[in-house]
Amino acid sequence: MNVPFLDLKAQYNSIKNEINPAIQNILDSSSFVLGKAVEDFEREFATLHNVKYCVALNTGTAGNHVALWALGIKPGDEVIIPANTFIATAWGATLCGAKPVFVDCEPEGYNIDPSKVEAAITKNTKAIVAVHLYGQPANMNALIEIANKHNLYLVEDAAQAHYAEYENKKVGNFGIITSFSFYPGKNLGAYGEGGAIITNDEQLARKAKMLRDHGSLEKYQHHVFGHNYRMEGLQGAVLGVKLKHLAHWTEKRREVARKYSEFLKGVEFIDLPAEKPNVKHVYHLYVVQILKGGGEKTKSVRDKLALDLKEKGIATGLHYPIPLHLQKCFSYLNYNYGDFPISETLSDACLSLPIYPEITDDQIEFVSTNILKFFKNNNQ
Ligand SMILES: *Cc1c(COP(=O)(O)O)cnc(C)c1O
Repeated sequence: MNVPFLDLKAQYNSIKNEINPAIQNILDSSSFVLGKAVEDFEREFATLHNVKYCVALNTGTAGNHVALWALGIKPGDEVIIPANTFIATAWGATLCGAKPVFVDCEPEGYNIDPSKVEAAITKNTKAIVAVHLYGQPANMNALIEIANKHNLYLVEDAAQAHYAEYENKKVGNFGIITSFSFYPGKNLGAYGEGGAIITNDEQLARKAKMLRDHGSLEKYQHHVFGHNYRMEGLQGAVLGVKLKHLAHWTEKRREVARKYSEFLKGVEFIDLPAEKPNVKHVYHLYVVQILKGGGEKTKSVRDKLALDLKEKGIATGLHYPIPLHLQKCFSYLNYNYGDFPISETLSDACLSLPIYPEITDDQIEFVSTNILKFFKNNNQ
């Protein structure tokens, strides 16, 4: 049996009848950049998250940038970012000329640890970016309290958490501005690149609209410096179709996660994803930690398991093998190994199992039984 990490073809085949005419419609109208399909999508995406404004962009990275840019983050400013996230979260700060300041993650759920945020705040700190990693919302109550106390902007990176909830409210309702990615493999994926910001702040939405389109709201009138971060019409059309399936696909992902956890519970060498009681986790990723040993030893067992699964036709991933503070591009910030032990251990021990709405019960069982077999045969 073959279990890919993702199966975008299976999803396309399930919605072909809706996608093809939507794409044909864009070809017929030749609205290739922005246009009605993108505007419709913006309205529907904002409504789905219960916020007033959505500005569609061409990548999630543009979302990370525009969120901070619209807030006026500039050189000399510092932005607090989790050490355990995808690199693009940090590009938001660096593209504004600001300094990313990293904070370790929680041992449960692996989101930014609010109890470690205050120690990272200086007189230059302007914002905290909370990433809802793997699809699980960060601890927003604690972060809101810190942001209010220190007069900082709280920004959400929801690139992995479309439609997720924290205390029965959708993500995007806690920070002043929130970014999303619609990269094909995300929970809501375009057929190419895509991204967006959402906000309830009219001024910020207006600013974001200018920044994505050469600093302009009217053709050839450039009010501020900008960029070209516009969404393509084709992506707007595809996302508009796929948005109608998001609630159902989210439930499927949650079901897959429940099934994995049922199969793998009680295995002493595996730490399963901890779903916090006050969130709706949307399982962009199903990340387990392999607990054997610690340090190098953990890593070698994890790598051995990944290889064993690969040989059986099962693809897995690592999210993420190197925490941000140890990336070469940030060596100028002078962090060291040992600075963020939870993120560092996670990098050595994490393993992401295949998860997507179209995965079959047989595939879930095949992955699970092969993991159980591995630990039975490698019971060091
Ligand atoms: C995917 C991702 C991004 C960037 O999105 P792109 O569309 O690939 O530019 C940003 N932050 C996080 C947490 C992501 O997972």
